[in-house]
Amino acid sequence: MSELLAVELSALVADAGRVVTAPAVVERLSKDFYWYSPVLKKQLEAKRGDVAVQPVSVDEIIAIMRYAGQRGIAVTVRGAGTGNYGQCIPLEGGIVLDLALMDKLEAITEEGVAVCQPGLKLGVLETEARKQGWELRMYPSTLAKASVGGFLAGGSGGIGSVAHGGLRDFDNVRAIEVVTMEEEPRVVLHEGAAVHEIMHSWGTNGVITRIWFALTPAVEWTQFTAAFESYEEGFLFGKAIAESSAWTKRLVTVFEWPIPSFFTPVKQVVAADKTLVLIMIATSELEALRVAAAEAKGEVTFAGAFVGPRTQPLLSDYTWNHTTLWAMKADPTWTYIQAGFSPANCMEQFRLLREKYGKEILFHIEFMKNGEGVVVPGAIPLVYFTGEERLNELIAYCREIGVFIANPHVNYLEDGGRFRADNIQLRAKQKYDPRGLMNPGKMLSFQMETQPK
Ligand SMILES: Cc1cc2nc3c(=O)[nH]c(=O)nc-3n(C[C@H](O)[C@H](O)[C@H](O)COP(=O)(O)OP(=O)(O)OC[C@H]3O[C@@H](n4cnc5c(N)ncnc54)[C@H](O)[C@@H]3O)c2cc1C
Repeated sequence: MSELLAVELSALVADAGRVVTAPAVVERLSKDFYWYSPVLKKQLEAKRGDVAVQPVSVDEIIAIMRYAGQRGIAVTVRGAGTGNYGQCIPLEGGIVLDLALMDKLEAITEEGVAVCQPGLKLGVLETEARKQGWELRMYPSTLAKASVGGFLAGGSGGIGSVAHGGLRDFDNVRAIEVVTMEEEPRVVLHEGAAVHEIMHSWGTNGVITRIWFALTPAVEWTQFTAAFESYEEGFLFGKAIAESSAWTKRLVTVFEWPIPSFFTPVKQVVAADKTLVLIMIATSELEALRVAAAEAKGEVTFAGAFVGPRTQPLLSDYTWNHTTLWAMKADPTWTYIQAGFSPANCMEQFRLLREKYGKEILFHIEFMKNGEGVVVPGAIPLVYFTGEERLNELIAYCREIGVFIANPHVNYLEDGGRFRADNIQLRAKQKYDPRGLMNPGKMLSFQMETQPK
């Protein structure tokens, strides 16, 4: 199957060298950070595509989609493979469509909108944008590796979300162009609210080929850390900074002890037994932040400029989902959940979880603005994994006490927390991929509608 597929694909791209059959490379291009989840690790280890192909143009993508559609072959799109739910792992073999070579930044408009191809790395975009007085509104902690297309199709938010919300909010994504998997593939532009048909759909309903991504004027940032005696003190300090519009910030993160002890390369910013608060603050507000931290009984442990993605140390490398990675390095038994605490009731929710699970759950808070403009304590708490049943019980308990959970231990969209209640991603799949060939198995509601009862 793979040989014939490779031969036929080679006729569709200008350079047959861009059709990959070497098993080790196809295996690598079929995988992401799914092993973050002990549940997904077991489920997805053996899954892989048959062949990978690296198109360089929309015309090549159309030819590949037409070919795959005619033969009923699955197509799974890949950006940089940093997803952590196994989003880009092909469940039914077929073609891995690797978009890494489609990485052009076409323009940054006068209004601050980046127009780019999907394979462009977010770190490159941040660097180029800063040269022109702009910066990303938000980016995942995988800034250096992740692609713009993969972020839109698989991510949700990150550094910057405390000020600008998630990808889905505030017109952060202006337009998306996709190639469809219809009988005759088309290029379709989605503008304004129509972008939500495609965003966070894990490549199940179109190949994103062009993006209009809103930027924001660049700010001179300082990375700042302060240590607090207790979790409550650190949390309340972070909350006050995150919620007040008086502060210009890009990141407000709280790590309860012993999470900071996992950050071995930046020991200098960590104080033993203390909660660590990490903030990216406008440099012009640094002195005021020092005063506020002292008033809240915080000990400032670091303040240093952020000069772009190559800053050393780059403290965002310890935030968002990177925190989990450091914990797993220290002890692979750690895993995580993705949560949203209630702004009004979070102290009680923390108390209930601590009471029931003790230090089996460790609080890691990432403040972010929601679509209504309210800053909420988003969270990626660490969980000590003692079995799937216990993990599911903890998730159910969180939901019972009003903690929102985007479950990162499932490999389908609907329980991942970003599937829209209005079903527009599903409607787009019915329209653009009626045969269900795009990343099959990842949108359960589509399968349930199409499978014979
Ligand atoms: C250490 C770590 C930290 C992370 N931190 C964050 C974070 O802070 N915030 C966050 O939101 N996420 C985070 N993630 C998840 C991941 O990094 C982001 O989702 C990232 O943006 C994915 O980009 P990628 O290019 O690697 O996409 P991939 O992993 O390659 O793809 C992600 C999904 O998008 C689909 N896709 C990719 N390109 C296209 C395209 N052009 N058209 C259609 N579908 C496409 C794929 O099929 C897949 O389903 C983290 C992951 C790790 C491992």
